[in-house]
Amino acid sequence: MVIGAAGYLYRPHNLEQINDVLGLARTTGVPVVARGSGCSYGDAAIMPEGVVLDFSKMRGVLALDPVSGIVDVEPGVTVEQLWRHTLADGWWPPVVTGTMEPSLGGCLAMNVHGKNNWVRGTMGDHCLELDLLTPERGLRTISREVEPELFHAVIGGFGQLGLITRTRMQLKRVRSGLIEGKAVAAPDLSSLLQRLDDAKDDWEYVVGWLDAFPRGGKLGRGQLHFARHLEADEDPDPKTSLDPAKQDLPGTIFGVVPKALVWRMMKPFTNNLGMRAINLAKYLHGSTLADGAVYRQSLAAFSFLLDYIPNWKNTYLPGGLIQHQSFVPVADAERVFRTQLEICRRYQMPSYLGVLKRHRPDDFLLTHAVDGFSLALDFPVIKARRAELWAMIRELAEPVVAAGGRFYPAKDAALPGELYRASFRNGELEAFAALKREVDPNGLLQSALATRLLES
Ligand SMILES: Cc1cc2nc3c(=O)[nH]c(=O)nc-3n(C[C@H](O)[C@H](O)[C@H](O)COP(=O)(O)OP(=O)(O)OC[C@H]3O[C@@H](n4cnc5c(N)ncnc54)[C@H](O)[C@@H]3O)c2cc1C
Repeated sequence: MVIGAAGYLYRPHNLEQINDVLGLARTTGVPVVARGSGCSYGDAAIMPEGVVLDFSKMRGVLALDPVSGIVDVEPGVTVEQLWRHTLADGWWPPVVTGTMEPSLGGCLAMNVHGKNNWVRGTMGDHCLELDLLTPERGLRTISREVEPELFHAVIGGFGQLGLITRTRMQLKRVRSGLIEGKAVAAPDLSSLLQRLDDAKDDWEYVVGWLDAFPRGGKLGRGQLHFARHLEADEDPDPKTSLDPAKQDLPGTIFGVVPKALVWRMMKPFTNNLGMRAINLAKYLHGSTLADGAVYRQSLAAFSFLLDYIPNWKNTYLPGGLIQHQSFVPVADAERVFRTQLEICRRYQMPSYLGVLKRHRPDDFLLTHAVDGFSLALDFPVIKARRAELWAMIRELAEPVVAAGGRFYPAKDAALPGELYRASFRNGELEAFAALKREVDPNGLLQSALATRLLES
C-alpha cells in the first residue's frame, strides 16, 4: 500500500547517537519509531510527526564464531549481509523471510517466520540474547535467562518496548549451498492443506501457492513446494555451492529477459483478468509438466523468490497492495480459508497471490503463530474501491478471531485494532501494557501500527 507520514529522519551510527535521540524525545515529547529496512507492508515503521530512527547505518557484523555458528550483529544488518558473511563457513540463518532485505532488528521486532516455521520456529527462537535500550531503564542485555519476560515480549513487540542495538544469533549448520526441492500439485483446498500437513515432518521447508480465482470443487487449488538441504556427500562440489558469489540470483529470467524489466512486463497483467490468466497458467503447468518434479536450486534462489523480480511492488502502482495473513488452528483452517475465499468472491476482489504455510506455537508474548496454517492473501489497492477493500479485510478477519486464530501485523495495514486485540484472550495485551509502563512510561516509542492496533 502507498502509505506515509511526515516526520523527521535520523540515521544513527552508534549507541551514543541513539541515546541523543531518546534524550531529545524526552525533552520535546516528540515520539520515536525504529526502522530497519522498511520492508513491513504498511505503517509499522512510521509515526506522524515523530522521529524515524533508521538503523541502516548500523550494519556491522561484530563477531562470528565459525565453530559454533554464533554471530553478533548490529541491528541494521540485513538477512542478505548475514548469510553472505557466514555461508562460506557453512552457516545459514535458521529462519529467513521471502526477501533478503529485512534487517535483523526488524525481523526480531516482528518475530518473522520462514517456510520452515513448523520445524524451526521463528527468528526469535534462534536469538540467544539482545541488547535493548529502553527509555526508562537504559541499556541492558536480555535473554531467556536474564529478564525472560521482557525478552519474550520484545521479540514480536514491534519496537514498542525498546530499541534493539545488538543481537546474538545461533545460525544453522549447512553442508551444501544447494537445496533439493519437489513440486506437487493439489486440485483443491482440502488436498492442499492435507499434503502440506503430511510433508511437514519430512522436509525442512514446506510452502503452498494457492490459486484464489476458481470456485466450487476447484476452490483453493494450488501447488506445494517441499525442500531440504543437501548433505555434503550429495553435493558434487560443496565448496563452490557454499561460495556466496555462486548464490547470486541470475540477472535474467529464463536466461533472456533482464530481471529489471520484468515488473514492467507484468504491469499490463496486474488486474483481475490478467491475474486470473497467470494463476490459471501457473496451475496448469504445476499440475501437468511440473507435478512431482524434483529440482536442485541454490539456497538463495529457493529462499528469496521475491527478490528475483526487482521492484515487483511497482506492478501494483498507483494504489499499491495490501496483504492479509491470518493464522488458524488446524481444526478450523479449511473452513475459515474457504470462507475467506468466498468473501473475496462476494466482494469481487480476488487475491492475486495466495500463500499457505504450516506453523507451530511459540512462547513469545504477542506471537502470531498457532498450531495451524497461515494463509497470506495479496490485494491491489484501487482508489475507488479502497473503502470496500478495508471492509472486506474486516470480514476476512472475523472468522479468524472466532476460531482462536491470530494475525501477522508486519504485513497487514488494514486489520482493525479491535479484531487484533480480540485475538488475544489470555491477558497478553495487559501484560504487554504493564511492561510498556515499566520500560517506557512516557510512551516515547510509538508507531502508527501500534497506535492502530493497541489503542482502543
Ligand atoms: C517481499 C517480502 C517478503 C516477506 N516475507 C516474509 C516472510 O516470509 N516471513 C515473515 O515473517 N515476514 C516476511 N516479510 C515481512 C518482513 O520480514 C517484516 O516486515 C520485517 O519486520 C521487516 O524488517 P525491516 O528491517 O524491514 O523492519 P521495518 O519494516 O523497518 O520495521 C518493522 C518493525 O520493527 C521495528 N524495528 C526495526 N528495527 C528495530 C530495532 N533495532 N529495535 C526495535 N524495533 C525495531 C520497527 O519499529 C517496526 O515496528 C516480508 C516482507 C517483504 C517485503
